[in-house]
Amino acid sequence: MKMNRIACEEAFNIPEIARELNKIAKAGGTSKDLILIRALYGDGVTGYNAQFVPKLLDVDDMRLKQMDELGIDMHVLSITVPGVQMFDADTATEYASIVNDRLAEIVARHPRRYAALACFAPHSPKRAAKEIERAIGSLRLNGLIVNSHTNDQYYDDEKYFPFFEAAEALDAAIYLHPRAPMAGLDRPLDKYWMEAALWGYGVETSTHALRLIFCGLFDRFPGLKIVLGHMGEGLPFWVTRLDFMHDEAVVVGAAPRLQLKPSEYLKRNFVITTSGQENHLALKYSIDVLGEDNVMWAIDYPYQPMAPAVQFMDTAPLSDAVKAKVYGGNAARVFHIT
Ligand code: MN
Repeated sequence: MKMNRIACEEAFNIPEIARELNKIAKAGGTSKDLILIRALYGDGVTGYNAQFVPKLLDVDDMRLKQMDELGIDMHVLSITVPGVQMFDADTATEYASIVNDRLAEIVARHPRRYAALACFAPHSPKRAAKEIERAIGSLRLNGLIVNSHTNDQYYDDEKYFPFFEAAEALDAAIYLHPRAPMAGLDRPLDKYWMEAALWGYGVETSTHALRLIFCGLFDRFPGLKIVLGHMGEGLPFWVTRLDFMHDEAVVVGAAPRLQLKPSEYLKRNFVITTSGQENHLALKYSIDVLGEDNVMWAIDYPYQPMAPAVQFMDTAPLSDAVKAKVYGGNAARVFHIT
């Protein structure tokens, strides 16, 4: 059975932003993202870390060659963490449109190999909504990505709703991608590299996703789709406790009453990907909890290697029909890939 292999969380960067991140690496600051940024974009980066930026910048050469070797049909590209979100609102707005134009060019150059998620500047929500309309409506990109918080704020505040409204209207799924935990949440994660992919990214992103649920975002925008990487950032494992304790939170007046249970929003408004969680038990469990239409394959290249991600799916204990959905069918539906 021929299955399309569409990898959904595949990072790239543009030289202009790599240069800006070099400046950010050299400036002061307390954001825990600076640990990764200094390691990848700082002056004189060598060894293991020096491999990353060239891989992020490449879309025409080694990446395609490796995709060919492994039979990967498509990468859904997105600007790598932290995207445009550490720039001031004006600069971020400007860079978002440059990134999205560049993505449209890449897709035009390789229409069968790449799809793309547009970025936007969350700290300027009305202009973000305009950019979303342009990126999806005119550039025909396939969805959206945002790297969790901006300026230590989550988007459960109404001032951010314009971009959710635009995304829902255009049926553009928003990939809520990790970044290091915001100020305050980062305090216990400041050792052992815990601020990053080891643990902190998941804490940050699952916390953010829950705030979007608990604020009532999905009662307001019932058609909105949020994508979570890394097997749902742990949330599928929590559904029973979330439902029980959210009821209690409503009873004591700590949270607004919602139309659905938290687990029902997870099933209706969220889709998860397998990035960096190549574990067949976790995959089977997540499909059982969320449904076979709500799990998609992702590699997280170049932070994760391509070959084991392919091996993971090829050997996954799923029926051909379900595997075809996870490997590419669901991505084609969610991201409107034809
Ligand atoms: Mn990623």
